[in-house]
Amino acid sequence: MQVTFVIVKPSAIQRGIAGEVISRFEKKGLQIVGMKMMSLSDSVLEEHYAHLKAKSFFGRIKDSMQASPVILMALKGVDAVEVVRKMTGSTNGREAQPGTIRGDYSISVQENIVHASDSEESAKVELKRFFSEDEIYTYPQLTLPNVYAND
Ligand code: UDP
Repeated sequence: MQVTFVIVKPSAIQRGIAGEVISRFEKKGLQIVGMKMMSLSDSVLEEHYAHLKAKSFFGRIKDSMQASPVILMALKGVDAVEVVRKMTGSTNGREAQPGTIRGDYSISVQENIVHASDSEESAKVELKRFFSEDEIYTYPQLTLPNVYAND
């Protein structure tokens, strides 16, 4: 089992599709083990998007991520990091495959609805960045036999 990290971005919240996005993860069989709202500060965004900090468009990314509070999620499942990345789709919503969240709900590079950790390592770092230990829950997933059978 892995736990991965997701941000439901202001583009989803402003458009009133946050519930649909969260619902996709639930329907897939992922277990929600953490969820809260937060307004993202400049400093947390500079840390979270450090690989983009030097880019000319970084200011626009910050504005976009601060357009409203976001919903932060911790999702648990077998190979959760890769599964959720696949569900998220390519960065550019115009190129993302239909059937993915970005492919179905976004027509933009910037306003692309969700963030999802891109590796197990970054999931660990990002979960620590946004959640305290007592905000990640352990509880029985009663549907587990139906969700996974023996594989
Ligand atoms: N982004 C953007 N313009 C770009 C590249 C990225 O606005 O040219 C934004 C976009 O919202 C993206 C986020 O910055 O989701 C982080 O970019 P990254 O390359 O890490 O892509 P992701 O992992 O989100 O697909």
